[in-house]
Amino acid sequence: MTQRVAIVGAGLTGSLLACFLARRGLTVTLYERRPDPRTGSAERGRSINLAISERGLDALRRIGLAEEVMADALPMMGRMIHPVEGPLDFQPYSASQDRAINSISRSALNNALLDAAAKAPGVEIVFEHRLVGLDSQAGELVFETPSGRVEAQADVVLGADGAGSAVRGQLVGEGALADDADFLDYGYKELSIPAAGGEFALDPGALHIWPRGTSMMIALPNPDRSFTCTLFWPSGSFDALTTAPQIERYFAEHYPDLLPLAPGLVDDYLHNPVGVLGTVHVQPWQAHGRTALIGDAAHAIVPFYGQGANCAFEDVVELDRCLDDTGGSWARALPLFEARRRDNTDAIAEMALANFVEMRDKVASPVFRLGKQLEHAVERALPGRYVSRYELVSFTTTPYAEVRRRVRRQHQALAGAVVLALGALGTLTRTVLRSRR
Ligand code: FAD
Repeated sequence: MTQRVAIVGAGLTGSLLACFLARRGLTVTLYERRPDPRTGSAERGRSINLAISERGLDALRRIGLAEEVMADALPMMGRMIHPVEGPLDFQPYSASQDRAINSISRSALNNALLDAAAKAPGVEIVFEHRLVGLDSQAGELVFETPSGRVEAQADVVLGADGAGSAVRGQLVGEGALADDADFLDYGYKELSIPAAGGEFALDPGALHIWPRGTSMMIALPNPDRSFTCTLFWPSGSFDALTTAPQIERYFAEHYPDLLPLAPGLVDDYLHNPVGVLGTVHVQPWQAHGRTALIGDAAHAIVPFYGQGANCAFEDVVELDRCLDDTGGSWARALPLFEARRRDNTDAIAEMALANFVEMRDKVASPVFRLGKQLEHAVERALPGRYVSRYELVSFTTTPYAEVRRRVRRQHQALAGAVVLALGALGTLTRTVLRSRR
């Protein structure tokens, strides 16, 4: 008998997962609490665009969707640093200076995945179904819909319902797993820079950063030639600005080049919501070999490496591989999936937190800039033997945990080489001095 799989959440992870499972001949029902986003408008101020890099593209290529998604993508080759005063500073992401991460519209990506899932044989998508009850052992689900409560049954239940996962909440309630969230003491708010005279107001080939020590703003380009800016400020500090003059005065002082480019600044600031940021830890990710969490539901991370969705897409590829490796046995594939992925998702969670400090503070320092230039020089001198962390994370599919190990090894080797070089230089200097006496 064909197995019935219920996926809860038709966001990026759930809709991609439906496409992968359909290829296995499974019967999939995708339940989403929102109305069909393809017929409505996006939520205000909710991460309008995303940086998709090699891991995400690898997953999209496997279902033949990479070309379509990349058609509207805007490649960003590096960071453009905006100091309070002085010239802009472009810092390339790769040693070869030609590799890019891609700014794409979150809603366009989600819609493309929903279209692909809707076309896939065996997939049904039901919108306006909010999961409110689950018996994970029996595979019974309860949804709230506009016409009342609806019950459903599945052989396998996969929770792809994001950082605040209801599936996870139900499993915690059953005592099947434990979760914990480390909230960052920062919130985020989106602002917009519209096109100016039909053109981009800033260079669209870069991810723009306004590093301000304990806070920062970033901006990514959109296909309509606007930019979406995201402020990352300490929690509570958003409330300190409540009137138009206060907001304008603050931005004139701290983000002076933004003011002339963002005519809707005050309106955006006053009306866009403040989002929370955090890392979700869950132990274990699955119960009874038939219910599991995937994507942000299992391991939401802070967004500073631009890897949350990329990592979630990699989850989908790995789960598919685990089903291959276990002959399609969910009871064996789900624990295997967790065993293979956990170290990697822990590693990117840690690297994403570290990247916040780099982006909001270090990128502005001349010492950091020099360090990056030296690192790129070493990469060019030792091609394939020394590869920076950023390149390994963004431009390869090297498992995140292996990236962490490799970068440690490289840094140790480099430090050793510097000590040896300094020693040799000392010996040489002493020899020269002795020969002159
Ligand atoms: P979600 O996108 O949260 O989708 C979950 C879906 O489940 C939603 O459609 C929701 O409506 C549905 N749902 C929720 N509850 C229920 C329920 N009870 N019943 C039914 N359906 C339900 N990642 C990157 O790779 N690159 C970036 O540049 C990047 N930038 C980011 C910037 C910000 C500010 C933030 C906050 C995140 C960013 N991310 C980025 C991370 C990325 O957004 C997430 O990792 C990604 O959206 C996870 O996808 P998901 O499908 O697992 O969860």
